[in-house]
Amino acid sequence: MLGYLEALDLVLDRIGPLPTCRMPLAGALGLAAAEPVIATEPVPPFTNSAMDGFALRVRDAAQGRLPVSGLIPAGMALVPPLAPGTAVRIMTGAPVPEGADTIVPIELVRVEDGWISLGAAPRAGVNIRLAGEDIPGGGQVFPAGTVLRPAELGVLAAIGCPEVLVRPRPRVAVLTTGDELVDAGARPGPGQIRDANIVSLCAQAQAAGAVPVPWPRVPDRREAVADALRRAVADADVVLTNGGISVGDYDYIKAVLVDQGAVQVFWRVAQKPGGPLGLWLLDGKPVFGIPGNPVAAMLMFEAYVRPALRRMMGYPLLHRPVRSARLEAPWKRSGDPGRTEFLRVVAREGAEGLVAALAGPQGSGVLSSLMRANALAVIPPGPAAIPAGGEVRLHLLDAPEDH
Ligand code: AMP
Ligand code: MG
Repeated sequence: MLGYLEALDLVLDRIGPLPTCRMPLAGALGLAAAEPVIATEPVPPFTNSAMDGFALRVRDAAQGRLPVSGLIPAGMALVPPLAPGTAVRIMTGAPVPEGADTIVPIELVRVEDGWISLGAAPRAGVNIRLAGEDIPGGGQVFPAGTVLRPAELGVLAAIGCPEVLVRPRPRVAVLTTGDELVDAGARPGPGQIRDANIVSLCAQAQAAGAVPVPWPRVPDRREAVADALRRAVADADVVLTNGGISVGDYDYIKAVLVDQGAVQVFWRVAQKPGGPLGLWLLDGKPVFGIPGNPVAAMLMFEAYVRPALRRMMGYPLLHRPVRSARLEAPWKRSGDPGRTEFLRVVAREGAEGLVAALAGPQGSGVLSSLMRANALAVIPPGPAAIPAGGEVRLHLLDAPEDH
């Protein structure tokens, strides 16, 4: 059977970046720039005052007192040159008049009857922001692949780019299936449980920067599954089906994918949890078949869907930081040693590096232990047990991708 890393390779091989689009800055936070950004104009565009004060010539300051010959507010378009032997009142951000070579802050002068008295001798160039000193015109401001944080967006606005070339946030349709499921706000009847996964999977999609599209819940009927899948594939960039992917009598997802001519990339991975995971391409769009157990669902999103969404959005970094840690208590494998196991752990900095302890019971339905975890210990196929102090590889769940 396919292993975890082979399956992940297939995911990243079959799912490529979405076509680029121009996005208004207000919608681009967190996306990756799809091209290098070049400033065509300098910032600031003109030499201006860094302080509220007086513009003057250093050599005139020797007189100690100067008449005030004018006022330059911010935004003034036509600024007359400085009359020799005078000072001009000037506001922060206003253009420095031709001839002035320093700005003396208002706090350092005495103003009386249209004259100013100066204290210490000013130095040339002080409190003057030169045109292009922030960003010179003509150069690269940041390379393709840069993640747009608030500062990058501010710089884009400053250089006159109201839009930026990015890859759009994928629309991720989330289809939960199961006749036992009711909404979070409902009181479950006999045999029913609340639909946790529609919420957790949509939240994971949102946290990855995508647009979750929570689909109306799909009953365990073949026609209902077929209808929902058809509509979801038409509407979304990626479809996540949840539940109904195993070998139960009402597990219709696979059969419906076959009916609709989907190309199977893989189904079933030698891993725990998440063994029945599958990936199909339907009308060229990825359809992930994700098992229904709440922990399996979230871990499969974390391990496969999140990197895939990041690839679609053109991020250069796809994977969470991987660190080695020592297990605090011994761990024993149960079941097939040919599987990769994802353990929910709490990692913390110990005296000699990271240590990890199980975050609670590891059943694939025990969501509260995933809630307490901050890392996954990924145990490759092989070892039947790991002793206390044994080394494991951690994927840090709360840290941004670094490779
Ligand atoms: P399935 O993959 O459909 O066989 O479901 C496996 C287990 O996960 C069953 O116990 C389901 O009741 C449970 N389950 C499936 N879907 C959800 C969901 N959306 N929210 C919470 N539990 C679910
Ligand atoms: Mg089910």
